[in-house]
Amino acid sequence: MHCLPAVAVLLILGLLCGCVDTATVHEWCYNGDVCGPSAWITKPFGSCNGTRQSPIDISTDRAQTDQNLSQFSFSDYEDKHIMKEIVNTRRTVKVILNDSVEITGGGLQDSYHAIEFHLHWGNLHSVPGSEHKMDGKHFPMELHIVHFKKHYNYTLAMADPTGIAVLGFLIEATDDKDTPLSWKLLTSKLDDISHNVTSAHLNLSLSLDDLLSGVNRSKFYRYPGSLTTPPCQESVLWTIFEEKIHVSKDLIDLFAKRLVHYPKAAVNITNIYRPVQPLNSRTILASPGTKAGPLLTTGNVGGAPRLSVPSTWLLVVTTAGLSFLR
Ligand SMILES: [Zn+2]
Repeated sequence: MHCLPAVAVLLILGLLCGCVDTATVHEWCYNGDVCGPSAWITKPFGSCNGTRQSPIDISTDRAQTDQNLSQFSFSDYEDKHIMKEIVNTRRTVKVILNDSVEITGGGLQDSYHAIEFHLHWGNLHSVPGSEHKMDGKHFPMELHIVHFKKHYNYTLAMADPTGIAVLGFLIEATDDKDTPLSWKLLTSKLDDISHNVTSAHLNLSLSLDDLLSGVNRSKFYRYPGSLTTPPCQESVLWTIFEEKIHVSKDLIDLFAKRLVHYPKAAVNITNIYRPVQPLNSRTILASPGTKAGPLLTTGNVGGAPRLSVPSTWLLVVTTAGLSFLR
């Protein structure tokens, strides 16, 4: 399969990264006909023309409630000293996390350890900016916390159709200035990394729980997908939370205002999101308590398409994984 050359190069380069800013066989970008998302479906960019690509539009009323999507357990999400470094990668801002940070539960079959988090945004706080849509609606920003299956390195995670678990949080803009304090603290470091590719050591007293404040993490949607940047490897179990993080417009604006990259001259980093991709045959699952429809069973013939077969898409995952390994 055409994804193998991309992995081979990644192995050679020995690069470690999450769902954004992975090295590829071909230089990619967000804005431009030659290197932008419309060109990613061609072979040199990896697996971006696959059948379980991300992001998607999450239609909540077509999602299937699955009682197996239990509460997550979050380890060290409350720790205020797990953010090690902040990086302007020229395609996003990324924060490297201590690998003591873990998630279990939430319907995941394994434990996953955190690697990094990063953000997607548009032009200042305008819409679109998020990658995922919910019920056809974009948001100004989206946070991705990237985890690898426990004991996996980058290579192993990429080769496993369930090797990566990304928690996605949609971010809504508010008019309250300079709020919340946690995001004010995070954005205070942007000036230290305004130029690409620069990084800064982080010594903030700031936890992931602080950044996720106000979000009920028992309400979420789950589907099998991919990295949202080349090589678009189909190795991600996505969790998108129903409730939004609320961040003030002025703080969201700082990402596009403060961060620049240098293709030739300094350019502000804007519109760093991939458009939504076809759902194809995938089923979006929903945890109990979301807006998704009631739990139905395979024996229910009420005409609704929501069948309670939690493992339905695992067949898709397995098939995709086998094709990847060929
Ligand atoms: Zn991302």
